[in-house]
Amino acid sequence: MRAVRFSGHALELVELPDPIPGPGQVLLRVTGAGLCHSDLTVMARPAEAHPFPLPIVLGHEAAGVVVDLGEGVGRVAVGDQVASYGPRGCGICPSCVRGAENYCPHSRRLGIFPPGLGADGALAELMLVDERQLAPADGLEPLQTAALTDAGLTSYHAVSRLRLGADRTVVVIGIGGLGHCALQVLRATTTARLIAVDVTKEKLELAQACGADECYLAGDELVDQLRETTRGLGVDAVLDFVGSDATVRTAAEVIGVNGNISLVGVGTGRLPVGIHALPLGVTVDLPFWGRRQDLADVLALARRGDLKVHVEEFTLAQAPTAYEKLRAGAVLGRAVVNPTVAE
Ligand code: NAD
Ligand code: ZN
Ligand code: ZN
Repeated sequence: MRAVRFSGHALELVELPDPIPGPGQVLLRVTGAGLCHSDLTVMARPAEAHPFPLPIVLGHEAAGVVVDLGEGVGRVAVGDQVASYGPRGCGICPSCVRGAENYCPHSRRLGIFPPGLGADGALAELMLVDERQLAPADGLEPLQTAALTDAGLTSYHAVSRLRLGADRTVVVIGIGGLGHCALQVLRATTTARLIAVDVTKEKLELAQACGADECYLAGDELVDQLRETTRGLGVDAVLDFVGSDATVRTAAEVIGVNGNISLVGVGTGRLPVGIHALPLGVTVDLPFWGRRQDLADVLALARRGDLKVHVEEFTLAQAPTAYEKLRAGAVLGRAVVNPTVAE
């Protein structure tokens, strides 16, 4: 099979042996592999700092069609269209038994890694997934499905943890793969007034199409603009999909009393927390990926037409170019590789 592998220094298009499903595993023909900004963080790490062995096939957002079954697999059949629930946990700790493998405290120590983030992932013609990690995705477009497993799932999960009553104001910072999904999830599941922030006009146009009521460019005037539009009260929630020093500072300066700050972006920003640092009653959340039930909910929102990922499609060989585009901030919505396209 053809695959895009990360060597520790570079991405390379390689020919690898077709994987063979072991007990409990399913072989998928990959029909969509989303490119996440987190992959750029993984690739920027020094080779010796990776918690998993290299080289690795990246791609932790996956949709596919079942083509082969390992021993003992009985709940899916060849030909089924599926989505991969990415998080991997130990399966028996309190988080895992609640269906929140995304918060398993043992997985890393036990060497249990998600496909694309430790095990070989979706940037390939074929991939292995444990049967129990599959969700039915029939009736959904495959490139959409792939992006829903992280850009959709993570943003849905982050939104679901906000304490939002009626008539609230939410700021979404960073209208990329995750941010443009978050706006749609907020629009579909809350009555909040939605404010979008990004660094380019194109992203703000997408934000508007995704349901934002107001849009602002990041910059020196942003904090004053947000204070003004909330009559000095501040906002009820900030979802930060960047996590830089500048964005977490903005979050701290615009959050109102009893507000929620959700730091989703994997940046190097640090947010000082303390009784004199933030308004009273503020909580800070550090959500990660999503629960199994969240994925089912996200797929349901997409089936209902309430969540539509804006997809830029690439071939497998174009994956390195697509990552460069993502690094440059030039992808609108989510870049998704379609490995079924012949090149
Ligand atoms: P993306 O590159 O698609 O989107 C980032 C967006 O932020 C872009 O539109 C960019 O223009 C904008 N941006 C950059 N600097 C900005 C600034 N100073 N102010 C406002 N906007 C700014 O990235 P993505 O794939 O959507 O991921 C978003 C972040 O979430 C990344 O840091 C990623 O690593 C992280 N992430 C976290 C989780 C989690 O579980 N916590 C899961 C997936 C991704
Ligand atoms: Zn991701
Ligand atoms: Zn666990």
